[in-house]
Amino acid sequence: MKLWAKILLGLLLGVICGIFFPTFSANIKPLGDVFIRAIKMLIVPLIFSSLVVGVTGMKDPKKLGRIGMKTFSLYLITTAVAITIGLTIGTVLKPGAGVDLGEATITQTKEVQPFSETLVNLVPSNPIQSMAKGEVLPIIVFAILFGLSLNLVGKKADPLVNVIDAIAEAMYKLTAIVMELAPYGVFALMAFISQKYGLSVLLPLLKVLFGVYLGCIIHAIFTLSGTVAFVGRLNPINFFKGIVDALAIAYSTASSSGTLPVTIRCARKNLGVSDNLSSFVLPLGATINMDGTAMYQGVAALFIAQAYGIDLSVGNYITIILTSTLASIGSAGVPGAGLIMLTLVLNSVGLPVEGIALIAGIDRVLDMARTTVNVVGDCMVTVIVSKSENELDESIYNAQTQKIGLEPA
Ligand code: ASP
Repeated sequence: MKLWAKILLGLLLGVICGIFFPTFSANIKPLGDVFIRAIKMLIVPLIFSSLVVGVTGMKDPKKLGRIGMKTFSLYLITTAVAITIGLTIGTVLKPGAGVDLGEATITQTKEVQPFSETLVNLVPSNPIQSMAKGEVLPIIVFAILFGLSLNLVGKKADPLVNVIDAIAEAMYKLTAIVMELAPYGVFALMAFISQKYGLSVLLPLLKVLFGVYLGCIIHAIFTLSGTVAFVGRLNPINFFKGIVDALAIAYSTASSSGTLPVTIRCARKNLGVSDNLSSFVLPLGATINMDGTAMYQGVAALFIAQAYGIDLSVGNYITIILTSTLASIGSAGVPGAGLIMLTLVLNSVGLPVEGIALIAGIDRVLDMARTTVNVVGDCMVTVIVSKSENELDESIYNAQTQKIGLEPA
């Protein structure tokens, strides 16, 4: 059986096991934890080595600047579209209407740092410390600057570039080894989650759940795969087929940073994206591009406003679009980050932050969907940018078709 099929089977069996054997499922969490730790173990060395290889692989500073611009603009545009979808769904479905506020309790939410501080913290005062703490954004900044400096040094830097290249290759291999654990890890995680968030917790919040899942599906199918089909002129079915491993991991771990190693592997092996490009675009995307998170913040903000009976003005909607974009960029690719950043969005339009308590209980289930869309968005941008740079091996991309028996587009 192919790995992706095993992972999906693990996911399904996990849900079933969680519902029918709750005690057993509550106890197999350590197996899931081992898998998550193994995947997290890859992140820091992978992001650093992969970005340095990505930058040093593009010696031409013009090309690097061009790819950086394309990547960043596509990330921003798709995020803004995603929030608009979220706000539309929130307005039409009115998920918060009729919610019983009596059940809300105040949850502990972490303080969100001011935006100016976020910007300052982008520059690591000590890159080793940032690595030790796993702070992804400062590591990215350091890796890009370090890669640029290696380019400027020229010939003399070649041995070091080769060493870092070898580290990156080893990390990709290690990813493949860790992925063999995935079906069991995913099984354990899903069993644990479904016994914990059984149907009874979900029922009162079904509308918001439905809204977020609907938004995720609309964005993934229309915006993201539409862009693959019409802008990239590529078969979107191949696209999804190629990234299914990454999607299963994103869904079960709710972490796009954690999924990054698998995302890179899928982009190269199944979609035919060049090594350099995937090493540059994907680590950036896993950290700053979060369409699903932005969409969710739109739905959640409206849900909370409706639940408290607060009317929002057009200006408020625009503020939500702006702050959700920033909040999604600032969210780390780890579980629950989007919920914490939601406080920023609520504050910006004066909505009660305690409203977060309403959705905190089901956040994990929402997080799983939004993380999956975050990863789809990263892959879409990678494919489009690499096609526009003639760095997409379409024979690999189209080979997906033969695997599922369709004609190439
Ligand atoms: N868990 C999401 C991710 O890793 C971030 C979020 O909480 O929205 O992409």
